[in-house]
Amino acid sequence: MTRKNRNALLWLLLVFSLIFFGLAWLFSLRSQAYALREAEDQARNVLLTQRALHGYVSDVQRTEIYRLQSGGKLDPDYFSPQLMSRTYIARQVMQRLNAERQLLDLMPIYFKLASENPRNPINQADAYELKVLQRFNAGEAGEFREVVEEKGAKWLYLAVPVQANNDSCLKCHGLPEHAPADLLRQYGDKAGFFEAIGHIRALISIRVSMAAILEQGRDNVRTQITVTFLSMVAVYLLIWIFLRRLDAKHQIILEQNIELERLSVTDPLTGLLNRSGFLKSLEPRRQEAIRYGTPMALAMLDIDHFKRINDQHGHTVGDAVLKAFAEVLRRNVRSADVLCRWGGEEFLILLPQQDEAGAVTSAEKLRRALEVASFTPVETLSASFGVAEYLAGNDLQGWIARADQALYAAKAAGRNTVRVARPDAGERIDDAAQPAA
Ligand code: GH3
Ligand code: MG
Ligand code: MG
Repeated sequence: MTRKNRNALLWLLLVFSLIFFGLAWLFSLRSQAYALREAEDQARNVLLTQRALHGYVSDVQRTEIYRLQSGGKLDPDYFSPQLMSRTYIARQVMQRLNAERQLLDLMPIYFKLASENPRNPINQADAYELKVLQRFNAGEAGEFREVVEEKGAKWLYLAVPVQANNDSCLKCHGLPEHAPADLLRQYGDKAGFFEAIGHIRALISIRVSMAAILEQGRDNVRTQITVTFLSMVAVYLLIWIFLRRLDAKHQIILEQNIELERLSVTDPLTGLLNRSGFLKSLEPRRQEAIRYGTPMALAMLDIDHFKRINDQHGHTVGDAVLKAFAEVLRRNVRSADVLCRWGGEEFLILLPQQDEAGAVTSAEKLRRALEVASFTPVETLSASFGVAEYLAGNDLQGWIARADQALYAAKAAGRNTVRVARPDAGERIDDAAQPAA
């Protein structure tokens, strides 16, 4: 895989991880908020039911009993908590509700009409409830709500004040001498009296367990996180596969380009550089030699009487001979030399770091190597050479033309020989080089 794509995948992994953990955090927050809402709903339901019950006892049951009393049908001192005490009735109803809940394996709902001056000690507000009651009496509004933790379990605590004492409350909660005789008989003349108008004497205290709701929330979060994780892994894998395929295609194109590039500069018959490949690699070397002031030379060679080989043995044999000829050349040039098939049966060699004398020696060496080589079915073959040292101010074309003209001179001199293009004679051909033996 390419570096770029590997980096892209790493970045993607980082982004996906951030998104994943962000979502997990969000799911968990939402789940907690949901648990709180759900617990509040439950507590509020209980509260509303109790308010309704409260209202019913005050407005219907008690009113009915007072009516019976004032009509003389009931003793004016009659008092029954079962019919007249909202606290008693509320407690009974809640006990029954919790019994029903237990049958369904549901956590009980804590409910209490908690008072600081209860008639029945069972309704005595605990320290926590007293504190809340004080806040209500200090004028703190409406409703008190808090999540409390007890032995690792979370509960939602909800409290609302009962109505502040009014005239009708003081009938039973004011002075004992105003209270019904039955009430005094049942509860005595100490507890639940001496209340003042406007004072809030109790609060409705509800506690709902959040354990089951939280567990349900955690369950949901686990599912959401798993689904999110698997989806993200799937998307990541798809992207990974896609990038790998893209890379493989890219790699193939890259290799094809390299091959095309190679083919564009290679002669298909001999495998040597072709003319354009040679020219491409010639120019940077020429620039280098100019910059460092080092000599260099070209040697152009052409196979002598090659046409005869084609004529006598056919073109296929001619091709094979050309290949073998190129191989001999390749074996006999130095690794720094640049060898090319200039065209037909003509070859051009760049001889870096060589002045005219060095180039002539190299060309002679090559000429002899070719002379003694055998190119079956042609027993012997020779080539003519034109050598041109690079002259300051020569352009590429002029330099090559000088080598070509030196080669022409070698042909004219009878072939199988090396000729040099003299610098002082400009493009003039000189036959001062050693003729072949
Ligand atoms: P000279 O000594 O003057 O160079 O004689 P020559 O016969 O070598 O020169 P000429 O230019 O008359 O002929 C060159 C021949 O080389 C003609 C052409 O058919 C042959 N030739 C050029 N390229 C190829 C090739 O790729 N394959 C084969 N088989 N022959 C080729
Ligand atoms: Mg020839
Ligand atoms: Mg030729």
